[in-house]
Amino acid sequence: MKLLERARAEIVALQPYSSARMEAGTGAIMLNANESPWPSVGAASALNRYPDPQPAALRAALARLYSVVPANVLVGRGSDEAIDLLVRAFCRAGSDAVVTAPPTFGMYAVAARIQGATVIEAPRGDGFVLDGQAILAAVTDTTKLVFVCTPNNPTGDVVPLAVLAHLAGALRDRAVLVVDEAYIEFGDDTQSAISLLSRHDNIAVLRTLSKAHALAAARVGALIAAAPVVALLRRIQAPYPLPAPSIAAALAALEPAALADTDARIARIRGERDRLARSLLALPGVIAVFASAANFLCVRFADAPGAYRALATAGIVVRDVGGYPGLSGCLRITVGAAKENAALLGALGACEAAA
Ligand SMILES: *Cc1c(COP(=O)(O)O)cnc(C)c1O
Repeated sequence: MKLLERARAEIVALQPYSSARMEAGTGAIMLNANESPWPSVGAASALNRYPDPQPAALRAALARLYSVVPANVLVGRGSDEAIDLLVRAFCRAGSDAVVTAPPTFGMYAVAARIQGATVIEAPRGDGFVLDGQAILAAVTDTTKLVFVCTPNNPTGDVVPLAVLAHLAGALRDRAVLVVDEAYIEFGDDTQSAISLLSRHDNIAVLRTLSKAHALAAARVGALIAAAPVVALLRRIQAPYPLPAPSIAAALAALEPAALADTDARIARIRGERDRLARSLLALPGVIAVFASAANFLCVRFADAPGAYRALATAGIVVRDVGGYPGLSGCLRITVGAAKENAALLGALGACEAAA
């Protein structure tokens, strides 16, 4: 695979750490990993044995969920870990670069800077529409990764699949197009870039169980990519990335009954999102509510600090995204349960009445 020539040569050549669990998985008497033979009495379940580094059942369940084969799945500590692994595997400190299109998720730039890679920012078009041409114009010989978030955090807009296919084609053998789909489940039949993987082996899709699947505290995410890319990242991943209770929680969340409940929660959030958007827009202090295919709304206020303070006084915490390029006066509001959204609208309405 030609793309791997763009990875750091020392990572491709690295003799990876081989953990006890990888060398020998099961036996009647396990004396190879210096574990305790007894569980802690304080643990809810027995945790004295190291977990499987890439649990086959979880990989298989995620592969089914995302319509790929297990070799295309890297499971890890949230999609945050996948972002870090991609940057570390591909970017040489001091010489390589990543391209991002702000306003977008801040972790891409942070992970790149921690690695010592340059962050090149491509401008967006009117209404924050992702500009494929601007992204390609920002790509140089040393660009290894291009990050696209769809639906985008914090604006909520979706990048059409045709734009992603065009980008992937133009970046073939040169850079990985990383498509972060953390919120895709909340969209209107939004098609996943996973469907492009068979034609474009330089796409890596990030999915997470943190949002729609309601498992943020479990820290389970997946990277979906060509098998050689998955194998490359495995070389630098921590020996035991997933705690056993998180593996169990993820497997339970992927059972048919839990998936049906997830679908019902998604439908509820979508309904609440559209109701909340209309109600916010009716408030005189609200200038704009960005169309969102995610579980949050980006809202521009006439007086964002005043709105933030009124909400804080009512015990309601939202995210101030006014510091992002182009988003001055904006707050990002997560769509909550009906009662929570009503409380938010009440607090904003009361603050305007007082003004
Ligand atoms: C929340 C979020 C994630 C998910 O991160 P996890 O580490 O899987 O919890 C990824 N990308 C974006 C853009 C997000 O907003």
